[in-house]
Amino acid sequence: MTGPRALAEAFTGVFGREPEGVWHAPGRVNLIGEHTDYNDGFVLPFALGLGVSVAAAPRGDGVIEVRSRQAATAVTAPVDGGPVVSEGWPAERAWAAYPVGVARVLRERGTGGASLLIDSDLPQGAGLSSSAALECATALALCDLHGVAVDRPALARLAQRAENEQVGVPCGLMDQAASLLCTAGHALLLDCRSGLSAQVPFAPAGSGMTLLVVDTRAAHALAGGEYGRRRAECEEAAALLGVAALRDVTDLAGALGTLRDPVLRRRVQHVVTENHRVEATVGLLRAGAVTELGAMLNASHLSLRDQFEVSWPEADTAVNAALRAGARGGRMVGGGFGGSVLVLTAADRAERVRDAVAAAYAERGWTPPEFIEAVPSRGARRVTPA
Ligand code: ADP
Ligand code: MG
Repeated sequence: MTGPRALAEAFTGVFGREPEGVWHAPGRVNLIGEHTDYNDGFVLPFALGLGVSVAAAPRGDGVIEVRSRQAATAVTAPVDGGPVVSEGWPAERAWAAYPVGVARVLRERGTGGASLLIDSDLPQGAGLSSSAALECATALALCDLHGVAVDRPALARLAQRAENEQVGVPCGLMDQAASLLCTAGHALLLDCRSGLSAQVPFAPAGSGMTLLVVDTRAAHALAGGEYGRRRAECEEAAALLGVAALRDVTDLAGALGTLRDPVLRRRVQHVVTENHRVEATVGLLRAGAVTELGAMLNASHLSLRDQFEVSWPEADTAVNAALRAGARGGRMVGGGFGGSVLVLTAADRAERVRDAVAAAYAERGWTPPEFIEAVPSRGARRVTPA
């Protein structure tokens, strides 16, 4: 990704006028709390240093024109319109459903047309939420360009709605909330029922620790269908247990005794214990015990692998290789069946851990994994003019 000045110059080259500014929104990693969001539970994401930048200028003709340095096709569409997902766009335009969808949802708040040039240093489809970064950078830009004030929690809900209604992806609130609400040196404890959040201090480097994101380079082949199936199973279990959502299960043993179906029992076991792991993790972070998070990550991974059954071979291999090389803990992150793994290690062992994961992949003839050092970073912002 180029810097904001180069992006602004590129904008002028493409659109023949200067942008009004440049906005940036980060991707995120969820430290812990996986598949808890749509169960009205708790998540604990933090923002990455990597993200999506948007150079933008307003337009008065009710049109949104979007280009991306990561996409071949430029897309022009009216801001006024129904859900993008119902318009049957061809595959090469699909990426633009995110920014155009945001423009269509935000229109009800009074924003209008714009020209946007997008650039990103975030891998796409790796579970680091490039989609929410794209939505949130676009949303901030449109609000500023049209002088519309929306507070950040509300903006996160609007960006989520764009992904749900316009793109047609049934995601929860976490990704957009993380991109808009995170602050440097903190993780964001988000209650997915109330939408309320709290900043929890989290600076691994201060404790001599490093967090590595391993992009396992495995495509989300099954992701859509399996994700929908897990959601449906959780809803079914909640209905059988007579609660609004699995977040309300306080007596795990009692719930497991009530449910007959072993699959539903496993799903409930994961969701209930994962919410407890989020709470325990917040306690450890508030105590400054970063090293001890490893045990939480390991327990989360085993639960996702064995109870929720959403892990994939490249993730299990990465976690196992990292642990054998002396990492404190690791777990798959995201919906599952592809994407990334998060590993916590002493900083002075990070290189050994990387080498061990890379060697395990090479042994199996797999595409080499990519590594990103994850530093809890600030949320979305206007970059220029400052
Ligand atoms: P994730 O959010 O985990 O990266 P998603 O499948 O939810 O994965 O979102 C990835 C999609 O977002 C891409 O396929 C593309 O359509 C869109 N996208 C993300 N970043 C960009 C970008 N810089 N330029 C164009 N489209 C992007
Ligand atoms: Mg996404």
